[in-house]
Amino acid sequence: MSEINYKLPVITLRGAAVLPDMILHFDVSQPRSVAALEAAMQEEQNILLITQMNEEDEEPAKEDLYKIGTIAKVKQLVKMPKDTIRVLVEGKLRARLDDFLELDPYILGEVTIMEDEDENSELEEEAMLRYLQRLFGKYAACGSHMSPELVKQMESIDGINKLVSQLCNNIPMEYAYRQQLLEARSLSERFELLSAFLVKETEIIRINREIQAKVKQKVDQNQKEYILREQLKVIREELGENNTLDDAQEFEKALRKLEASDSVKKKIRKEIDRFRNSVNNSAEYGVIRGFLETVLEMPWDKMSEDNTDISEAENVLQADHYGLEKVKQRIIEYLAVRILTKKGDAPILCLVGPPGTGKTSIGRSIARALNKKYVRISLGGVHDEAEIRGHRKTYIGAMPGRIAMALKQTGVKNPVVLFDEIDKVGNDYKGDPFAALLEVLDSEQNCKFRDNYIEIPIDLSEVLFIATANSVSNIPRPLLDRMEIIEINSYTANEKYHIAKRHLIPKQVERHGLVKTQLRLNDLALDRIILNYTKEAGVRQLERRIGDICRKGVRQILQENKKSVGITEKNLDKFLGKPKYNFEQANEKDEVGIARGLAWTSVGGETLSVEVNVLPGKGRFELTGKLGDVMKESARAGISYIRSIISGQGIDKEFFENNDIHIHIPEGAVPKDGPSAGITMATAMYSAITGNSIKADVAMTGEITLRGKVLPVGGLKEKILAAKMAGIKKVIVPDENRRDINELEAEILEGLKIVYAKTMDDVWPVAL
Ligand code: ADP
Repeated sequence: MSEINYKLPVITLRGAAVLPDMILHFDVSQPRSVAALEAAMQEEQNILLITQMNEEDEEPAKEDLYKIGTIAKVKQLVKMPKDTIRVLVEGKLRARLDDFLELDPYILGEVTIMEDEDENSELEEEAMLRYLQRLFGKYAACGSHMSPELVKQMESIDGINKLVSQLCNNIPMEYAYRQQLLEARSLSERFELLSAFLVKETEIIRINREIQAKVKQKVDQNQKEYILREQLKVIREELGENNTLDDAQEFEKALRKLEASDSVKKKIRKEIDRFRNSVNNSAEYGVIRGFLETVLEMPWDKMSEDNTDISEAENVLQADHYGLEKVKQRIIEYLAVRILTKKGDAPILCLVGPPGTGKTSIGRSIARALNKKYVRISLGGVHDEAEIRGHRKTYIGAMPGRIAMALKQTGVKNPVVLFDEIDKVGNDYKGDPFAALLEVLDSEQNCKFRDNYIEIPIDLSEVLFIATANSVSNIPRPLLDRMEIIEINSYTANEKYHIAKRHLIPKQVERHGLVKTQLRLNDLALDRIILNYTKEAGVRQLERRIGDICRKGVRQILQENKKSVGITEKNLDKFLGKPKYNFEQANEKDEVGIARGLAWTSVGGETLSVEVNVLPGKGRFELTGKLGDVMKESARAGISYIRSIISGQGIDKEFFENNDIHIHIPEGAVPKDGPSAGITMATAMYSAITGNSIKADVAMTGEITLRGKVLPVGGLKEKILAAKMAGIKKVIVPDENRRDINELEAEILEGLKIVYAKTMDDVWPVAL
């Protein structure tokens, strides 16, 4: 192998290495390099290109350069602005830089040309060629961005030397690697380096692609979701509903916190999903939203802790209400059973009595006694089943029924629910609310109560239902069967007095912002309020009157700078005006044809006078006044009886043909009907016919049969109270009512004589 020495101008390259056969252009501006070029151009245009080890060096020394470079031929020079020259060179021969001969104005190097050392057999070269082509094929195919033309070109090369040098020049690689290839001393060495490079690069690209694919997949998914969400947002914004998703999230949050069974939650979740996909402003959106708000507030499994201490419960009941002993005892028994059996089959309590007797407030008391939440559902005037059970939610303006609403309001599944005025429920073409109530009150069915709106069955089995009614006669039988009736009667004046003292006055005084000492109401004044300013079975008006007094009292205290106000029977009219009710008093003297009966009305008892006139006429029988049919029938029964017995008593046979009988009952405040005036009317007629006068201080009540038997009647307590109020001394009652009379408190009967009558024969001797 011959070594030939040359002297050649040298240009140092930064970040690039040139191999033989490589065509390359670069810009030169350093004076040393420009001078080198100029020198080369004056000779054979050859130049040594050698690479700096460190790109940063401005004027590298010999040690800072790689040993091996390439002798290149300058093919073209183009002057560029700013003293820059663009050079086009073609690599020719591998060469070693032995020394710097000059440094100024350009580097003149002593250069030795390096020839390849090895000689390979043809077969070897063929094998190398094929192998390298295959490697390159793989490399190109794995996504290395080789142009198809280049691939074709490489495939068509038939010499290994050419292929190696073409590959070295065309495959992108770091200059340092290219320098390695340059420094290789033989073809085989270069071949090995190049093969290793291709294998390594192919593998790197493959791994890279794998990673990329994975990352891409991940990114794609995120990206897709992100983009979809963004699009959805934009769409929602366009529709003016960008808060649906936020709201859905809120609903989800509320659902997670909700105490409810899985099946309930599942159904709610489904609705939330529907909500999420609904379009704002659409009818559906509003409906689902309203629905979700409602069901998420329902107390599915939420309970409050009950008080199970029965004596404490009793104390509460006692403290809240005066009297009503039997009622309270019955309630305590009921509660005791309920506490013991946990819940369930105990019938529903129904408190029946006139208005203002504390039915509702006992209901509230029961809740307080058991430490339960309380809610009242007023059923008065409900005549649409949907009010109880709700409307289907597709209805415009649909709402849950009263029961679901009440439960939602209490926030627990075990409150006391009071059905107020259950007897005032009506039924008509809109379905039967009683049927819905039946389901609610039936312990077999009410663990799965279906509200049309809510749709998910609601468990009412933990609810303590209590009902109130004024009278049982309007409650349908099946409903009545499920309830246990507890009767609450009218209060006596004395009871009212105590209720006022203990409860109503303190309550009103406090409600008007007063203290006890600021308002003194004396006993006589209270009595007069009860008798002359109120007329009722309960204490509602009484409470209102006391409220009136408090109001006026507060005004006086503030306006007239008083310390306190005293109310006596004398100045009472200054507070309440003139007395409103003066009791129809007993007649002053005994009279013919006027008898006093006793009636029961929804506001308590009343006395009623029956007047009878007998006039010459044609045997007509006339009834006037506001009488119901039943009353007319019993008047006829009375006259029949009188006719049947009277012939033996000096009244001639033609009497009834020649006289008209006129019965009149002066109209009271309340229309009356019922059979209980039967004996009163008969007595008045008998008196008018026979001319015997009726005693002024006697009153009576009882039904009459055609044969003159006296049948029992109801409402004794109220009637007796009314008689007493009117100043009556003797009261005739049916014998069969003896038990009712015996049950009355002694206080009521004080000063009254009760006469029991089996037939009319027992009545007349007392009355006439
Ligand atoms: P109802 O439901 O029977 O019509 P309420 O419960 O509305 O009657 O009672 C009217 C008012 O009278 C309430 O303020 C109630 O507290 C009071 N009240 C009724 N009875 C009593 C009683 N026995 N003791 C104390 N307060 C009573």
